[in-house]
Amino acid sequence: MQMRSDTLTAPDTLALIGNTPLVRLKGPSDATGCDIFGKCEFTNPGASIKDRAALFIVEDAEARGLLQPGGTIVEGTAGNTGIGLALVANAKGYKTIIVMPETQSREKMDTLRALGAELVLVPAAAFSNPCHFVHTSRRIAEETPGAIWANQFDNTANRHAHIIGTAEELWRQMDERIDGFTCAAGTGGTIAGVGLGLKAKDEAICIALTDPHGAALYNYYAHGELKSEGSSVAEGIGQGRITANLDGAPIDTQFRISDAEGYAWTRQLLDEEGLCLGLSSGINVAGAVALARQLGPGKRIATILCDTGFRYLSTLYNPEWRAAKGLV
Ligand code: PMP
Repeated sequence: MQMRSDTLTAPDTLALIGNTPLVRLKGPSDATGCDIFGKCEFTNPGASIKDRAALFIVEDAEARGLLQPGGTIVEGTAGNTGIGLALVANAKGYKTIIVMPETQSREKMDTLRALGAELVLVPAAAFSNPCHFVHTSRRIAEETPGAIWANQFDNTANRHAHIIGTAEELWRQMDERIDGFTCAAGTGGTIAGVGLGLKAKDEAICIALTDPHGAALYNYYAHGELKSEGSSVAEGIGQGRITANLDGAPIDTQFRISDAEGYAWTRQLLDEEGLCLGLSSGINVAGAVALARQLGPGKRIATILCDTGFRYLSTLYNPEWRAAKGLV
């Protein structure tokens, strides 16, 4: 029996953010003749990759003197950034107001309430609609004394977390031998930050965007036009514009992955490797398999396992929900 080798003694909760383990994914590796690795972001204290951005955004605001003791952090989020911000806020003595579309999973809402965040639910709306969760959160921040707006989409402290954190860790964990990296984009902080960080190590590393249906980035990187087709029920990914975090992202190639394909990998990873993940992780793994097929056998490829599947027991892992969404 082998346990996690580098047991860590952290001085506080915030020191548990990042330095996540990397796991070789057997099924995807066997299917392609490559070594495909997943970065276990579900092991962060808030169980998602967004703890990293939350910590960097809060500490950047502190360093700039924008956030005072007892202040409030306001953000619009699909949920995971809100959870990250709420736990960072609790550890540092701030309050949080989180604006979220009501279509997100019940588990995320319950987690945010348990963390003590004030939760504001808004209907799902187009970005051009003033009721969109991003615009609503900005308004609340402007109207609340002592509040900052985290602004994860256009605040590049987000991608900085991945340039100096996630990319450095991957480079070290993969023994400085990486052929390709891929993941999907929500804010784009992960793909842009890891892409920039890895390109600085080795320009030859292929950075691939994995886009869900309904997002506009595949067409942008393939044909220079922001255009979306279809839709996806994956939470936390699917972008329709070039956010400040995506600006200058070094994307070499791109794949479009359906929910069905992403779910098939999510299911296989759970059934055959005991990994319980959210749908964005399955979509990322499907993208890593596509990248492995493009690069050819023997390559070393990394992707992101963004969050825990326990956050989606009422949705992705509920057969009735899947039937209602046409996900079989
Ligand atoms: N997967 C999940 C489940 C997420 O919550 C997010 C963040 N919205 C992402 C992927 C995408 O990460 P990023 O914002 O860095 O593009």
